[in-house]
Amino acid sequence: MSLLFYSTMLDANACQQNLGGELDLLPPDIIETLKVVSDAFCEIQVKQSDTIYRVRVTGSVRKISEQAEYIYQCLKKDGCSIYQNQEAIQEYKTIKNISREKLEAKIQDQLKRNCYISKHLSNRAVDIGTRSMPKSLVSLLVDLLKNTEYYVEGKKYQPMVVDRSHGTGPHLHINFEPYYFNPAKCPKEYRFQTD
Ligand SMILES: [Zn+2]
Repeated sequence: MSLLFYSTMLDANACQQNLGGELDLLPPDIIETLKVVSDAFCEIQVKQSDTIYRVRVTGSVRKISEQAEYIYQCLKKDGCSIYQNQEAIQEYKTIKNISREKLEAKIQDQLKRNCYISKHLSNRAVDIGTRSMPKSLVSLLVDLLKNTEYYVEGKKYQPMVVDRSHGTGPHLHINFEPYYFNPAKCPKEYRFQTD
């Protein structure tokens, strides 16, 4: 009886603070979802191994200057084909004598029109670092994320996971609906979103 209790206590301690990184700017529904996932991720590992890999948020809300830098680089590389919002990309491609400063100004202007080149400019996207994490655990984490439900204003959602092994290092990119904007559209003028 006491042994069992002791073992349960150990497990509980092992899975404390298993979610870390850049959480400050994330809304409660996303934090709660990540907590549920990181607890399950830890509890499964505790049963199998002495080494526990934690869930570490390596990216959330991005500065406009950082986004401008990413766009500057990817325009040179492949025309930014990875981005969902190609309408926004088209606007960058019309900029003459492109510079980081001009891109920053354009992104700023787009945000005013409810045009988001990246969900990282809102607080509805999260990156989780997977460097040094064994492949089997990355798959487990993806499954847990995809199968965790959360509710926003009474509506049920599940995180949308994209495995990205390039760019800023291996990570899982996760989108959390609802976005409050159309992720594929770049309105020419500001319109009130009525959903
Ligand atoms: Zn991302």
